[in-house]
Amino acid sequence: VWDKCLRIVQESIPVQSYKTWFEPIRPLRIQGKVLTIQVPSQFFYEWLEDNYVHLLRKALDYSIGRDGMLEYSIIVDTGNEKHQPLTMNVPTVKTPASSRPDNFQTDPRLAANNHVKDQDSLQLDTYLNGNYSFDNFIEGDCNRLARSAGFAVAQRPGLTSFNPLMVYGGVGLGKTHLVQAIGNYIRNHYDDKMVTYVSSEKFTNQFINSIKNNKLSDFTDFYMKVDVLVIDDVQFLSGKEKTQDTFFHIFNHLHQLGKQIIMTSDRPPRELQGLQDRLLSRFKWGLTADLQTPDFETRIAIIQKKLQSEGINIEYDVIEYVAHSVNTNVRELEGVIISLMAQASLTRREIDVELAKNTLKNIVMDEEKEVTIDTIQEIVADYFEINIANLKSKSRKKEDVYPRQLAMYLAKDYTDLPLKSIGYHFGGRDHSTVIHSIQSINDLMTSDPDVEETVQKLRSYFK
Ligand code: ADP
Ligand code: MG
Repeated sequence: VWDKCLRIVQESIPVQSYKTWFEPIRPLRIQGKVLTIQVPSQFFYEWLEDNYVHLLRKALDYSIGRDGMLEYSIIVDTGNEKHQPLTMNVPTVKTPASSRPDNFQTDPRLAANNHVKDQDSLQLDTYLNGNYSFDNFIEGDCNRLARSAGFAVAQRPGLTSFNPLMVYGGVGLGKTHLVQAIGNYIRNHYDDKMVTYVSSEKFTNQFINSIKNNKLSDFTDFYMKVDVLVIDDVQFLSGKEKTQDTFFHIFNHLHQLGKQIIMTSDRPPRELQGLQDRLLSRFKWGLTADLQTPDFETRIAIIQKKLQSEGINIEYDVIEYVAHSVNTNVRELEGVIISLMAQASLTRREIDVELAKNTLKNIVMDEEKEVTIDTIQEIVADYFEINIANLKSKSRKKEDVYPRQLAMYLAKDYTDLPLKSIGYHFGGRDHSTVIHSIQSINDLMTSDPDVEETVQKLRSYFK
């Protein structure tokens, strides 16, 4: 039975999540319709319940049947087993029901089963996820403009000049979080405003279905009635001419009535290919703001917030290590934190730098990365909070010279580059300057334990 469940699970989630959360589970027994599984910790159990309850329900439906139930047996820290009979009692529908009366559902099966008036037979969820808020959106230099514009829009939807508000940025940088936070804020502060969040993909599918089912006017009526329209990832509308035509009309209608429109995209409007010019020109009517890769401080703050919300304490050293090592995007950063917590609860160990390193090796640095001079410069600049440009410059300021010497020292160690080309990467210095730098770091390391420690720490970011 459990194998059957696992198969469903495996098909539905990324390999990494499957390995982290499902491989450690042991099936214990099945009694009647009740399946008992053993999970390694309370944290594990809570995580499963919070994140995979629907998936587990689906797996149970398939393997046991609708009345199948799941019982957890949780191993507690003493090594004893705490038996915690918990029956799952979750709705079998995949999506949360919306409280809105004029819900709109384009699933033809649902529509067909309905005997009431056509309009009532249609349903649509707002798809706002209450977990996204301004409170848990960490502010930093990387997102300040977008966040404050978003907050202004949330406070006075339709009344600022930020209409439409277009937020763009790379994957995992917080676009969805920010626009959902705006939607939630409006929903919580204005009873009478109807807020709708939809991804562009979903919007497209709804549009196509509505045509198939001869319900195009219901589709457009629905969207023309909203007070706030949040449409996520508009780059997906690219090349979909008919959907764009309809969106264009909805956009104009809403904008004319002073309704708020909020959009996201993975690139700035001018680079959106396959979108009609008339749409692009409208996107620029309001404000366009970008989200950038979070800087070191913001990464630290995000990790701390995340840990705090999970009620977990870890040493600052570890936080710093993770913030240094994961500098791609917030989603990846969160993934690492979650894996760390899972790892810690599996091995019953405090999270220390060692554990963090191991975990990181498994997830972020799948392939052993070669250390390049760019990486070294990036990490050293990050560490000393100076610009990479300063490392590459001729500046003789004390706050630049020491990091630069250190970076050269590490470059000699980690790359095969001849001294001459190392010098070249640090402002075109000659090879005797590089030798001098390395020598001076060597000297400092023997005389000053702080320098020694700094070198150790920097080294730990490479392996
Ligand atoms: P995008 O839509 O740009 O791909 P998401 O909004 O889905 O990115 O963000 C990815 C994850 O990172 C989400 O879990 C989100 O909550 C989190 N996140 C992004 N930016 C921030 C931030 N500034 N503060 C806190 N969490 C953030
Ligand atoms: Mg998104």
